[in-house]
Amino acid sequence: MTDPFSLYVHLPYCVRRCPYCDFNTYAVERVPEARYVETLEREVTFAAAQPQWQGRRISTVFFGGGTPSLFSPASLGSLLETFDRLFGIEFDAELTMEANPGSFEGSAAERLLGFRRAGLNRISIGAQTFDQQHLTTLGRIHSPHDTVAAVDAARAAGFDNLSCDLIAAIPGQTLQEWRDDLERVVALGPEHVSAYSLTYEEGTPLTGMKKAGLIQPAEEDLELEMFRAAHLNLTAAGFEHYEISNFARPGRASRHNLAYWTWRDYLALGAGAHGFAGGPPHQASPGACWGRRYANHRLPETYMSAKDGAWHATEESLTREMAIAEYLLVGLRLLEGISRSRFAALFGVSIEAAAPRVTELESSGLLVVEEDRVRLSEHGLELGDAVIVRIAAG
Ligand code: SF4
Repeated sequence: MTDPFSLYVHLPYCVRRCPYCDFNTYAVERVPEARYVETLEREVTFAAAQPQWQGRRISTVFFGGGTPSLFSPASLGSLLETFDRLFGIEFDAELTMEANPGSFEGSAAERLLGFRRAGLNRISIGAQTFDQQHLTTLGRIHSPHDTVAAVDAARAAGFDNLSCDLIAAIPGQTLQEWRDDLERVVALGPEHVSAYSLTYEEGTPLTGMKKAGLIQPAEEDLELEMFRAAHLNLTAAGFEHYEISNFARPGRASRHNLAYWTWRDYLALGAGAHGFAGGPPHQASPGACWGRRYANHRLPETYMSAKDGAWHATEESLTREMAIAEYLLVGLRLLEGISRSRFAALFGVSIEAAAPRVTELESSGLLVVEEDRVRLSEHGLELGDAVIVRIAAG
C-alpha cells in the first residue's frame, strides 16, 4: 500500500467545559503538555512500524480537540517534524489546527505566528456566534471581539486558509440573529465556514437544563429556516455548499474531512482518538476484512500510562455489510453524493442492490439518482441525517 493517508491528533484539554460539549475533553488549569506530547511521539513511532502505515506519506494533518491552541507552537512543531521524519509529509499537505479565540496564552499574535512558523497552514477558529448573550448560553470563554482579533492575528501571521465554526439553533436565537451571524462571518473573509445546529447530547449539562425546562430548544421549523439561510447567504457570498454543514470558497474544502467523507484511511493519535485503516480498495475476497477501526483509551491519564502498543481501548474489523453502511453514511453527507461506479468497483454490486431504499427514497424525492451519482435532493439535504440513516440501515 503506498497511497497517502490523513493523520488526526487529539489534544483533549480545555480551559473550561462548554455545557453542550460531549467531546472527549477535560478542563485543566495546566495542560500536562510534555508528557502528552511524549506519548503522542511514542504512539506515532509505534504506528510507523505497522504494515498498514509503512511506506505511506501524509496528505493531511488535523490537530483537533479539546483546544489545540492551549499547546505551544514548539510542541506542535516538534510533532510535525516527527511525522515528517517517520512518514514524509507531502509538499502540498493541508496542516490544520483548531483554535479557540480567548485561549491563547500571552499575545495571540505571537502565538499564531509561532503556529504558522511551526508549519501549520490552515486554522479553524471556533467563533460559534457573534452575539455575546448566545456565547454566554454556550458557556464560551471568548467574546465576539476575541473572535475578530483571533482572525486578524491569524491573517497577520500568514494563515491564508482559515475556517470559522458557527452554531445555529441556540436557545433564544432568532432567525434574524442567525442571519446577522452569517453576515458577520462573511465579513471576516474566511475560506471555509462550518455551520452546525446545536445538538443536545445525553449527559451534557445543557441537556440536563433542557430536561429541567430551564432552556427552550429551537423549534424544528426555525432550525430548518436557519439551515436554508446558511445555504442561501453563504452561497450568495461565493461559498460552495459541499457537505451538509460545510461551505468553502472554490478549492478550499477541508481536505482532511473529505478523507473521512470519502472513506479513506486515517491514523488517529491521542486520548479517545478513533482511527481507520485497510478498507477498500485494499480488501480482497468476500470473506476478507473490510477495514479495521480502533478507538484509543479516552482518559488522558490511562492513555499516557499505557505501555507501548497498548493505546487502543477497542478494535473492530468491519464486515462487508458494515463497510457498505458506513460508506453510505459518510458519502451521502457530501452534496455531490456517491459515485455509483466507485461504489460498484469497491463492493462488487450496484448501490441500489446494496441499499434497496435508494429506489424508494428517489421516488419520495429525497434522493437524486444520476448516471454516475446518488445524492441527497434539496429536500433530502434539509432532512440530512434522518434520510442518510434510513438508507444506510438497508
Ligand atoms: S472549547 Fe470546544 S472542545 Fe472545549 S469544551 Fe468547549 S466545545 Fe468542547
